[in-house]
Amino acid sequence: MNASLSPVMHRVLDASLPLAEAGEGVWIADASGRRWLDASGGAAVSCLGHNHPRVLEAIRDQAGRLAYAHSGFFANAPSEALAEKLLARAPETFRGGAVLFLGSGSEAMEAAIKLARQYWLEVGEPGRDRFVARDMAYHGNTLGALALGGHPSRRAPYAPLLMDVARAPAAFAHRLARAGETETAYAARAAAGLQAALDANGPGRTAAFAAETVSGASLGAAPAPAGYFARIREICDADGALFIADEVMCGMGRCGTYFAFEQEGVAPDLIVIAKGLGAGFMPVSAVLVSGRVAGAMRAGSARLANGHTYMSHALACAGALAVLETIEAEDLLARVTPLGAHLDAALRDLLGEDRNVGDIRGRGLFRAVELVADRDTGAPFPASDGLADRVRAEGMAGGLICYPSPGAEWIEPDGTPARCGDHLLLAPAFISTEAEIEQAAE
Ligand code: PLP
Repeated sequence: MNASLSPVMHRVLDASLPLAEAGEGVWIADASGRRWLDASGGAAVSCLGHNHPRVLEAIRDQAGRLAYAHSGFFANAPSEALAEKLLARAPETFRGGAVLFLGSGSEAMEAAIKLARQYWLEVGEPGRDRFVARDMAYHGNTLGALALGGHPSRRAPYAPLLMDVARAPAAFAHRLARAGETETAYAARAAAGLQAALDANGPGRTAAFAAETVSGASLGAAPAPAGYFARIREICDADGALFIADEVMCGMGRCGTYFAFEQEGVAPDLIVIAKGLGAGFMPVSAVLVSGRVAGAMRAGSARLANGHTYMSHALACAGALAVLETIEAEDLLARVTPLGAHLDAALRDLLGEDRNVGDIRGRGLFRAVELVADRDTGAPFPASDGLADRVRAEGMAGGLICYPSPGAEWIEPDGTPARCGDHLLLAPAFISTEAEIEQAAE
């Protein structure tokens, strides 16, 4: 096939993409048998590799019985079972909760935005119609999710269409902590930025604050400083605003616990998950709704206008259910933290002294290497170098799938634009062997 004439839009935009033909374990091959080690699970998606027999069997079985029955007419067994399983693993406050199943992380973020608005309508506070999200955040590509996002260049082309969202600072000690500032002091300062944003919205005006628990593609597997999220929860509670945890990338075991926020000792009001939920076998996402929010919806008008043709898709939910059952049956969560430590050690061993490596960070099997022009000053390579694209191309040429992103951008308090180093994300499958982890690092 002549790729330069491909009618598929993403190949129209990049004709160099090879045609993926087969997946086996952590490898992807093309028709000629050329193989790539998938060290990032695409975009932190394929947590079980590419052809897990248990998941394939469950999908075949469900497809043979029922793939789809419109959610306006029918419930279906896989979505009921999956919702129960997810809620059972969520915090105590999700007892009596509910789950919405959609197709992508962006759709789920849109639904979370609407759910937050609808909650306040149901409880008689229609004035809570504003949101707060963080600088440099990425929450998806649809207009609502993009409005929550904090990337100046991603937002710019769509600016007149985006809702106005008050901005809190990112929690990114590596770049934003001051010289000599302790982790505790930085956590308190970063969290205080949420208070300022809530104040800017006005008392009783914020529906919800949205944040990624561990920032993925935007900041490169950057966990918040210890104590930050506990303070965030207190600030949201004092204001009344709901807290939406975007765990699209960092959730579903990627950081070593089902939900990354478990390690922060907090419970959100809405949890958004996607990528690892379907693990690439199925395009599926979910919003987990706490008992308080679901209770208000049940008692209220139940007018959440958020129908999507494929929501609660039986085959997608059966695939996701099999992913979750596989993680449990094979005790894969127990592998994530030690394998992640192995990857971290391998990266530090190979790259720790490299003058173009500014930082190696992450949690569990969610790791990033930040690339800089000068590690002493932390100066990034110029954006015009297109380093992330070049790293992706070099990786592919060498048989490695990693997930590079351009460095996050922000505006300094004095108004000057700033940028951190480009990074590449590694998010290997939970089934990886130590040898495959070492090979990825090499
Ligand atoms: N939220 C986060 C944290 C993400 O990383 C992404 C995608 O990378 C999204 C939302 C959007 O998900 P999707 O690309 O499935 O729409």
